[in-house]
Amino acid sequence: MHELPAVEDLIRTLDEESENKGISEISEIHIVIGELSSYIGECVQMYFDFLSEGHSCENAKLVFHHKKARFKCSSCGHEFDHEKDFACPLCGGEGRIIKGTGKEFLISSIKTP
Ligand SMILES: [Zn+2]
Repeated sequence: MHELPAVEDLIRTLDEESENKGISEISEIHIVIGELSSYIGECVQMYFDFLSEGHSCENAKLVFHHKKARFKCSSCGHEFDHEKDFACPLCGGEGRIIKGTGKEFLISSIKTP
């Protein structure tokens, strides 16, 4: 349900982008979704199908890229992707999440026919 405003924003951004660059049709949209963002690709797709009608991005294919959260070790300062647990892969120290990581919901690229 919370995907709705996010998809509205997404389409607004695509409209602006199309207008600025003189694009009349978008064929593919790559979207980055952070693992902690709680956005679900299927829901994004559902709202997109519904909301994109009449826009330059209508009928575009959505390609989702899932991104892991990043952690920083509190002992040695090493930064690493969240895998199975929060322990530092170098020293076993406690990893703390880097604020904002894993919560992405953004367009990484678009393709035109
Ligand atoms: Zn460490």
